[in-house]
Amino acid sequence: MVSGIPVRIHATFVLLLVWIFGSHLARGQSLVQSLEGVVLILAVFLCVVLHELGHALTAKRYGVRTRDITLLPIGGIARLERIPERPSEEVAVAIAGPAVNVVIAIALGGALILTGGMARLAGSPAAIQGNFLAELLAINIFLVVFNLIPAFPMDGGRVLRALLAMRFEYVRATQIAASVGQGFALLFALVGLVTMNPILLFIAFFVFIGAGQEAASVQWRSAFDGIPVARAMIRDFRTLRGADPLSRAVELLLEGHQQDFPVVGDRPGDPPIGVLVRADLLTALASGRMDRRVDEVVRRDCGVAHPREMLDVVSQRMQEGRCPAVPVVSEEGVVVGMVTLENVGEFAMIQAALARGTRPAA
Ligand code: ZN
Repeated sequence: MVSGIPVRIHATFVLLLVWIFGSHLARGQSLVQSLEGVVLILAVFLCVVLHELGHALTAKRYGVRTRDITLLPIGGIARLERIPERPSEEVAVAIAGPAVNVVIAIALGGALILTGGMARLAGSPAAIQGNFLAELLAINIFLVVFNLIPAFPMDGGRVLRALLAMRFEYVRATQIAASVGQGFALLFALVGLVTMNPILLFIAFFVFIGAGQEAASVQWRSAFDGIPVARAMIRDFRTLRGADPLSRAVELLLEGHQQDFPVVGDRPGDPPIGVLVRADLLTALASGRMDRRVDEVVRRDCGVAHPREMLDVVSQRMQEGRCPAVPVVSEEGVVVGMVTLENVGEFAMIQAALARGTRPAA
């Protein structure tokens, strides 16, 4: 935990450390040299965490929280809850990460000069190998340059999108930035193939996928812009009561009406308790407890939606909470509908089809 933000380390990261240690030993280096290799990687990842904290703490200044920071062998990811409202704020958040590495690089450069290492390196650039400060400096410079490539999912891609968003509409800006990103990916792939560099090919793949995902998720959100839940919710649905046995849910599921069910209290007019999700129902059945009550399996943490709430807000909340469905509750506290990720997806497809001016095939 740093500044209230959980920092997670992916299991494969530990494997990377073991692999680095092993490969140093395999090259016939001493135990001390091998440990130095591991310490260097740890120092690099400390720099990556500081980079991600640069994003997270800048986002915090604009009121955007960070869910967590995850360290993967290929780098770090700070998962922001949303993108800042104004393009200028997005630029600031994106730039803050590489800016941290610039500061670290300057500090390392200063330390090198003070220790006289810089003069020795100027004499023979090859001496960078094995010089801890110099290696870390070089890696920080690489992190700055790499992250400023104007392609998603790198920070430079976000800067480019924000700059484009000052002139174009947000979805259009994202599409242009994503196309530029994929162009870079193809360029990397080409250079990687010609120079037989597998790392470059890997980066190209990573950038290509990242650019496509970003464009798709923005398009998804824009399909719901300004659309209230009431327009997309399912109105014809079955509910379950907390005291119902799971067998009742199975009956309804087999009738084929729906996959997830709003669960209401036992007396008429009681507020909804939550949703019974198909996956949870199947898990309970697999443990052979057909006689359990619905309220023992119901998910209570998904919350509810309101008919006048905006669909993009609700669908984002559902995705973040991994809730496939939420009941829609009127101001009087009555369940009047249900929103599922599936029907939201269908709604988005129809919106997209209408936007292209084509009618969905009959
Ligand atoms: Zn970054």
